[in-house]
Amino acid sequence: MATKTIAAKVLSASRPPSLFHVVGHARREAGESAWPVFATQVTARGVSSTKIHMSENRNKKSLNFIEEIIETDRAAGKHHGRVHTRFPPEPNGYLHVGHAKSICLNFGLAQKYGGKCNLRFDDTNPVKEEQEYVDSIIEDIKWLGWDWEDRLLFASDYFERMYELGVQLVRAGKAYVCDLSAEETGLYRGTLTKPGEGSPFRSRSVDENLDLFERMRKGEFPDGSRTLRAKIDVASPNMNLRDPVMYRILHAPHHRTGDTWCIYPMYDWAHGLEDSIEGITHSICTLEFEDHRPLYDWFLDALDVFHPQQIEFARLELAYVVLSKRRLLELVEEKHVSGWDDPRMPTISGMRRRGYTPESIRDFCERIGVAKFNTRVDMALLEFCVRAHLNKTSPRVMGVLDPLRLVIDNYPEEKEEQLDAVNNPEDESAGTRKVPFSRVLYIEKNDFLEDPPRKFHRLTTGREVRLRYAYFITCTKVIKDENGNVVELRCTYDPNTRGGDAPDGRKVKGTIHWVSAAHAVDAEVRLYDRLFTIENPLGDKDGADYRTFLNPNSLEVLRSCKVEPSLTGAEPGTRVQFERHGYFCVDINDSAPGALVFNRTVALRDSWAKIEKKRKR
Ligand code: ATP
Ligand code: MG
Repeated sequence: MATKTIAAKVLSASRPPSLFHVVGHARREAGESAWPVFATQVTARGVSSTKIHMSENRNKKSLNFIEEIIETDRAAGKHHGRVHTRFPPEPNGYLHVGHAKSICLNFGLAQKYGGKCNLRFDDTNPVKEEQEYVDSIIEDIKWLGWDWEDRLLFASDYFERMYELGVQLVRAGKAYVCDLSAEETGLYRGTLTKPGEGSPFRSRSVDENLDLFERMRKGEFPDGSRTLRAKIDVASPNMNLRDPVMYRILHAPHHRTGDTWCIYPMYDWAHGLEDSIEGITHSICTLEFEDHRPLYDWFLDALDVFHPQQIEFARLELAYVVLSKRRLLELVEEKHVSGWDDPRMPTISGMRRRGYTPESIRDFCERIGVAKFNTRVDMALLEFCVRAHLNKTSPRVMGVLDPLRLVIDNYPEEKEEQLDAVNNPEDESAGTRKVPFSRVLYIEKNDFLEDPPRKFHRLTTGREVRLRYAYFITCTKVIKDENGNVVELRCTYDPNTRGGDAPDGRKVKGTIHWVSAAHAVDAEVRLYDRLFTIENPLGDKDGADYRTFLNPNSLEVLRSCKVEPSLTGAEPGTRVQFERHGYFCVDINDSAPGALVFNRTVALRDSWAKIEKKRKR
C-alpha cells in the first residue's frame, strides 16, 4: 500500500475545493486509481478527517462501513441475503441537504444490493406534523431521483398494531402505567452520575395495568396524567433504559388518524416496531441514536418479533449553514428568508429553486462518504459538484449584470449581424446559435478600467480586446457624467476580425462578453451569498443566538441586467451559464414572460478576483 504526502496531490487533483484544510498523509488503497483527498476538521473534541473521493473512477472505491456490514450479513445468509432499508422523515418541516445524505445512503444501498427502500413517514407526533410537509417531502425525494415504488408508508398506519404490542408487554410484566407527572418522572430518573429510583407505580399488577392502559386509550384521562413505561432498569448507566416512556396521553387530532387516538407512541418505542413490521433489515440512523440502540434491541427482544439491525452514521454538517428543521422553521416564520424554498436555504426545495441539479446533490452525497465520526463539510465541495455537472449540461449565453454602454463609431448605424455562438463547448451536440450584433452594445462595467493595474487584460483606453464571438475592438474615448463616472465608451472595430480572430495573426489578451443594446432583454438577477457569517452558527463559544450571525448581505438583487435575446421567454427552471459569470437558473416562482428573474446558482471561479485579492493583501 503506497503513501505520499497529500500536498502534492491537492495540486493535481481535478480542482479540489480550496477551503478544506488538507493535511497529513494520504493512503492509496488497493484498487483505487487516484490519490484520495482528506478533509480535516479540527474541533473541540479533536481532529477528524473524512476521505473525499475526488477520483473520477469511483466504481473501484472501497466499501464504506455500512456496506461492509451488509456484505458480511449477506455472506452469512442473514435475512436470506435480503437488503431492505427505509428513509423515515418526520413530516414536521422541509427536507434539507442532511436528509439528502440519508436518502442517498438508504436508497443507494437498496439499489446497490438489489433490495428495497421504503419511504416511511414517522408521523407519531400529531402536534407538529402537517400534510404540507408530507407533500413537499414526497416531491423532494422524487426530484432527487429515487423511487419507493408502492411502499409509501406511514407509521400512523401501525398505531393499532403498536397498541397490541404494548398490551403484550404489559401482559409479560414488562410495562406498566405510571401516574408520575413529566417533571416527577425526570426527578425519579436520576442523572448521569446518580442512579434513578423506581416509580411508586412500578409494581402495579398486570390486571391493573391492562385496565389503565385501555382506559388511557379510551380517553378517560387528561393529557400528561399518565404514561405507559417499559420496566427495564432504573439504575442502568444508560439513561435511555431507565424505564422509558412508551406512550403519552395527548388529546390532539392527527393529520391522518384524526381523533381516533389520544395516546401516542414515543419515538424509541415506535421506531423499532415500524422497522420490524416492515421487515427492514438494516435500520440506518444518525450517531445520536447510538445510545438508544440498547433500547431498540430491548423492545424487539422483549416482544420476540422480527429484529432489524440499527446502524448509526455521522450526520452531515455544513460550514456556514444550519441543518435543523426547528431552526430552519424559525428562519421561515421570522421572515429572515422568503420561505422554505428561499434559494439561500439548505433545503432541497431551496437548492432546487437556486438551480442545483439532483445529479450534483447525489454526487456530493457520494463524495462525502459515510463515517462514524462527525465532520463539518465545506460548501465548497457541494459547489464543486454543482459546477462539475452544470459545466457539462448548461448552455452558454451572454448576460451583462452591470451594464456600461459601448458605441462602435465605425460600425454602420443601421447595420445588424447575426453571429454564430457555441452553445456548449463541453457538448458538441448542443450546436450553435445566432447572436445579434450592432453598433451599440452593453458590456460589463468592471470590464473597463481607465487606469488598469498589471495583469488586467480587459478593456482600457487604447487597448484592443476581443468581443466574444464578434470582433476585435479598441477603446478610443471615455465619456463621463458630471461626477466623473464612466457612462459610455467609444470604440472602433476591425471588420476583418469577424468571429473573433485576426487574419494577420495578431493576438489580444482579453475577451469580454457583450449584449447588443437594441436586442437586449431586461432581467433581474439575484446573487446569493452564505446565509451565516460564521462557520458554526449554533456553536458560538459565548453562546450567542445563531440569528446574531445572519449575513445581512446574503442577497443582492440586480435590477438592470441585460441578457441576450435567445433568453426571451425562457421557462422557469431553465439553467444556463452566463459566460464569465457563473451558472444561473430562471426562478420558478417569480420569473414571468417579459419580467425574467434569474438566480445565481453558483459563480464560476473568477481568476481575476483571486489576483485582485492577492494584490490587496
Ligand atoms: P433535524 O435535526 O433537521 O430536525 P431530524 O433528524 O429530526 O432532522 P427526521 O425527519 O427525523 O429529521 O430525519 C429523517 C432521517 O434523516 C433520519 O434518519 C435522520 O437520521 C436523517 N437525518 C437528519 N438530519 C441529517 C443530517 N444532517 N445528516 C444525515 N442524516 C440526517
Ligand atoms: Mg427527528
